[in-house]
Amino acid sequence: MQPRRPTRQVTIGDSRVGFVRIGGGKPARDGTPTTPAPVSVQTMTTGYTHDIDACVAEINRLTAAGADVVRVAVPEKKDTDALRHIIPQVKVPIVADVHFHFKRALEAIEAGVHKIRLNPGNINERDQVVEVIKACKDRSIPIRVGVNEGSIIERRDKQKRLKELGAYFHDNKRGYLLAIMITKLEEYLDIFYEQDFYDIVISAKSMDVATVIDAYTEISNRFDHPLHLGVTHAGPKETGCIRSVVALGSLLSQGIGDTLRISYASDSRYEVEDGLELLYSLGLRDRTSAELIACPTCGRIQVDLITLVQDVRKKLDGKIQLPIKVAVMGCIVNGPGEAEGADVAVFAGDRRGIIYVQGEKVANVPEEQILDALLERTLAFQADVQSGKTRLGEKKVEIIPPDPIGELGSGWEKLAHDKVAKANAENGNSSGTATLTIGKS
Ligand code: SF4
Repeated sequence: MQPRRPTRQVTIGDSRVGFVRIGGGKPARDGTPTTPAPVSVQTMTTGYTHDIDACVAEINRLTAAGADVVRVAVPEKKDTDALRHIIPQVKVPIVADVHFHFKRALEAIEAGVHKIRLNPGNINERDQVVEVIKACKDRSIPIRVGVNEGSIIERRDKQKRLKELGAYFHDNKRGYLLAIMITKLEEYLDIFYEQDFYDIVISAKSMDVATVIDAYTEISNRFDHPLHLGVTHAGPKETGCIRSVVALGSLLSQGIGDTLRISYASDSRYEVEDGLELLYSLGLRDRTSAELIACPTCGRIQVDLITLVQDVRKKLDGKIQLPIKVAVMGCIVNGPGEAEGADVAVFAGDRRGIIYVQGEKVANVPEEQILDALLERTLAFQADVQSGKTRLGEKKVEIIPPDPIGELGSGWEKLAHDKVAKANAENGNSSGTATLTIGKS
């Protein structure tokens, strides 16, 4: 991991919803030093903004999921009108996503929005941009300049677009596009600098992972504004997750990026959850919930582990505030080794589960009691950590695997049964009298 690249710092929010700082490390314009703020997670609502109650409910749901900032679309005046009623009912900074109509930006600013997103591809009349900048400056509202690949090339001039795209696809797939993105960005930011406006965040999204990495790397070398990372049109969660994590993870590991949005064609809650998980995985945010470890399952499995893992996740949700590592293992064969780094572990066997805390066996319960017992032990461990009695990641003893037959009567019984049946079939013996020594094959 490279250290975070220093940028100017931008602050969004107010005393009621709280302040979220983006970027930092470079002194403020008055010389005050800043330190890089934690990378924040953004998302966007999927419903109509003018549907006030539904919009408030969605924003509050996304806030509860951990979103630091929520963006809403404001294509029509009825959407910016709705902001007046929405903003007082939420507890997170709101960004107005403005395209085509600069007046929507002015209306959103009047309505009390905390940040504006402008697209140089469709709001580029100088006078209009200046009007928005002045309105934001009066209220100390930052602006994100988003030069998305899809809209950066002028659509109105079809011949020009064809020529640009022709060159883009023909010669140097990414180089030409990057040159257009950077040039447009420089031209656009000049308008801001002329107005002595530096409360700027930059984004340069594309649906192509390599373009995203190249664009942000280049922009990071050229500008000192904080960067909002994202892969646009990433697709459904299943595949979009890979695209986004590859692109954003690569940039973040190089110290590039100050806020992010993972975009899915799905419930925005997943964008928040996956964005946070990415930051936790890279050590860029402190986890505030249990970290679930689960085995991938294999032919030794004795329980419906996939359901069990989801049930454990739901059971612990909202009750664990520390990054306690909880392992859910499908059997006792490799489980202990695989659960080595866990604070709390359960090894599921045949209708039973054995629970370990810090390597010590603390319970052996029937299957139907696994969830309650695991929660009870994890809460007790959390209380011990909070009172200073013990620490996360501290092992009292190495995990000693349970006796496979005596304690769990687990996989071996079934394995043995299957092997006997197989041996009988191979020997043409249907009497069921074949013998097998358990543990040897
Ligand atoms: S813990 Fe057991 S069931 Fe899970 S992957 Fe390892 S060996 Fe297979």
